[in-house]
Amino acid sequence: MYGIRDRHWNEECGVVGIAAVESAAELASLALHALQHRGQESAGITVADGHRLTTHKMMGLVADVFDEETTRKLTGGYAIGHVRYSTSGSSHILNAQPLQVASHRGTVSLAHNGNLVNAHELRREMELEGSIFATTSDTEVIQHLLARNRAATCEDALLEVLPRVKGAYSLVVLTREKLIAVRDPHGFRPLCLGRYRDSYVVASESCAFDIIGATYLRDIEPGEMVVLGHGELASRFLPQDVPEKRCVFEHVYFSRPDSTVFGRNVESARRRSGEILGREAPADADLVCAVPDSSNTAALGYARATGLPFELALIRNHYVGRTFISPAQKVRDMSVRIKFNPVAEVLRGKRVVVVDDSIVRGTTMRKLVKLIRGAGASEVHLRIASPPVTNPCYYGIDTPVRNELIASSHTVEEIATYLRVDSLAYLSLPGLLEATGEADKYCEACFTGNYAISFAEEAGKDVFDNHAAGMDIPVKPLRPVGKTDGNGS
Ligand code: SF4
Repeated sequence: MYGIRDRHWNEECGVVGIAAVESAAELASLALHALQHRGQESAGITVADGHRLTTHKMMGLVADVFDEETTRKLTGGYAIGHVRYSTSGSSHILNAQPLQVASHRGTVSLAHNGNLVNAHELRREMELEGSIFATTSDTEVIQHLLARNRAATCEDALLEVLPRVKGAYSLVVLTREKLIAVRDPHGFRPLCLGRYRDSYVVASESCAFDIIGATYLRDIEPGEMVVLGHGELASRFLPQDVPEKRCVFEHVYFSRPDSTVFGRNVESARRRSGEILGREAPADADLVCAVPDSSNTAALGYARATGLPFELALIRNHYVGRTFISPAQKVRDMSVRIKFNPVAEVLRGKRVVVVDDSIVRGTTMRKLVKLIRGAGASEVHLRIASPPVTNPCYYGIDTPVRNELIASSHTVEEIATYLRVDSLAYLSLPGLLEATGEADKYCEACFTGNYAISFAEEAGKDVFDNHAAGMDIPVKPLRPVGKTDGNGS
């Protein structure tokens, strides 16, 4: 991928499930289009017709993987779908989802959004007992646990094996005659339930319902498993009783503003965060602009709170894909310029507030500031609609290691100097949680280091790939729950 990716945390995955409707694969394909922002590496759908399961998946965007003819051939009334950005296991067709396997309980297909922090440990244990793995993805661990379990039904087996799995998971599971959807007990990643005619659908975000004409009903609760059949819904709960830990970054950046996640509209939470940022950190300036698109709503909120005019001063090229950029071009900051173009007519001679949702490494923002100054801005005041990111995520977001996060080792003043801005301010954590509401239900570990689940920090995204390549990866003891020392040690 081209070099703009360091501007943000990379997206995770998106899942959909369609129960008991005609042409389920066509609906699943449409729903995946709406979730494309959550993963662009691969796309896949499994369909069930009551007798057998059929999976089609490929590397690429949904539009490339599912043309009309391919989708039409996937016949059946039940479907699950997945778009992937790899948070565990490399970007390879072997790791594309859904993962369909055959076992003593028949054929089962599964798609997962999240990241399992003890997958390496579980996999090593099963390998020592003779299990053979076909992928380098953490998700396959769940398929193995299901296959080894003797419970009579798939849902009974899930209730028995999932308490062994630690981490973040929003799962959709398909058997020949039913769709099962489960959210981990902390509820890190979203999973919504919708109504489609006289049946049900599930999806990572409610924007997937809008595109197929379904209605958002509610979130699947943390620790809840719903089993969906012909117009029927049965709800059961995993036995763990733990605090809710919704990923606050779904509201900051990941989810689409037209979605409802965690029962809250993303646009309104994001706009509110901008308003609070304006209240907390006003600037003496002439105009406000956003780093499009994810920061547009927060910038509108900032403009409303401060009374400054909102202007479209940066134009994003939406059609940039895997563009070849030569090493010489990279030196000239082409990787940023190819994606954002500053509007000199708006910026020339102006004191500008630039609103962005977050800063990860800071390298791209530094180039962007240079572009804005080059277009004639007389002052650049940077406002960030979330607190400084000081810790990596282990629950389903692919983040840089701690020492690559600029705020893990630099003060706000030092970051401002590095970025060459006239002033820099971040939204406070209480401010962000005021914007989302229900402050005590959110995970904020990437800002505070207060992790809800212990993890082996050293494992990393590529642990299974390194293992498959013959490297000896010791199973590290899990870290205790709570605050780290901020130095990764
Ligand atoms: S650590 Fe940050 S990105 Fe990861 S789940 Fe928690 S809030 Fe979300």
